[in-house]
Amino acid sequence: MRSALAALGFSACTLAALAFGACGADDAQVDDGKAEAGSDSSVIDDSGWPGSDANPDAEPPADPVPRAPCTTGQCWSAPALSSFCGSSSVSEDFSTGKYNVHQYALSLPAGEMVDLTASVTGGAFNPALIVNAVDGTTLYDGEIGVSGAVKVSAVSSGRTGNVARVGLVAASVTAVSVFVTSWSVVDGGFSPAMPTDASYSLTTDVECEPPPPGTLLSPPNFDAQKTSNGYFMLPDSEPPGLYVKKGDACSWGNKLLIDVIYTVATHWKPLYPKLSPLSVKDLNENVAACTTNHDTHDDGTHVDIVAGCATDINCADKAPKIALAKLFIDTGVACGILNNDTAVHQTVNAYFAQKTNYAPWKSQFMRSVTGHVAHFHVRVKKPDGTCN
Ligand SMILES: [Zn+2]
Repeated sequence: MRSALAALGFSACTLAALAFGACGADDAQVDDGKAEAGSDSSVIDDSGWPGSDANPDAEPPADPVPRAPCTTGQCWSAPALSSFCGSSSVSEDFSTGKYNVHQYALSLPAGEMVDLTASVTGGAFNPALIVNAVDGTTLYDGEIGVSGAVKVSAVSSGRTGNVARVGLVAASVTAVSVFVTSWSVVDGGFSPAMPTDASYSLTTDVECEPPPPGTLLSPPNFDAQKTSNGYFMLPDSEPPGLYVKKGDACSWGNKLLIDVIYTVATHWKPLYPKLSPLSVKDLNENVAACTTNHDTHDDGTHVDIVAGCATDINCADKAPKIALAKLFIDTGVACGILNNDTAVHQTVNAYFAQKTNYAPWKSQFMRSVTGHVAHFHVRVKKPDGTCN
């Protein structure tokens, strides 16, 4: 991650600025002389943030222009972006000619800088990044951002170049929508079309180290004393609403499996609130009171998950399914998912290859097995750390 940042030209000052506002909201402001009135760096510090009264001589910073890209624009709802620690990129294009805006769901983690960069990889256009809250409030209009519960650091608007970049820090876990388009589209009220040869990469960089398996989230109400046949019980969702259980008798598994379910459910909730809570079906059949005949659910590493269109192969929108599969991969300990939606296999398996360095369950992370049409059958690593 660090080398990737260096390759992008990050300076220590830029990173510090993004995290703490120490270099002002916009490096370009300093460069183009707008901030020259203050040679004292503290003036530059404070003048970048709306609502600051530390420098009464400076013009008050403007608020972002409200932008509703999908009201007029033709929005394609893309798979949600990763918000786990580290760097992750997606590549997209406007080749179908049907859309002029791409919309991404993103869950901002609490207190971590998330750096978003859209870079032109094909076609002639100036990229624009817009960030809205889920209620439609514009947090970043492409040039100016807010500084409240979500603090925006405008780095590069992209208006005259090939790269649009912005930093976001949220006080608490916050779901936002990220829009990628061009300035021609923005300035045309979202009516103009995108060139069909336009393509870009969108990189999410979260300024923390990826959690190793030992630091997976764990249910705060997990009870290590509550065991059966050597397995632990997935407790009721705490806080409520992350997941629902089939029943206590069917909810015994390895601690790692319980942590994976809890971790994924926690990140899923703000990403797709309408597809939450996750419905957690059988963990382990090897308990008398859980009578489902589930041949493979026999060692505490398997679970069935149902989440509406995120797991149902008949839904046309594949974005939630890809997003949910990515969350499992992001845990770093998921071995495989059985689900028969072949339309998403390539994307999911490529992401697994990109993010991990271990062999998946039976050679392919996501694969089809008869009957897996409306749920994810997920397997995590065995106690020996392997998948097979
Ligand atoms: Zn299953």
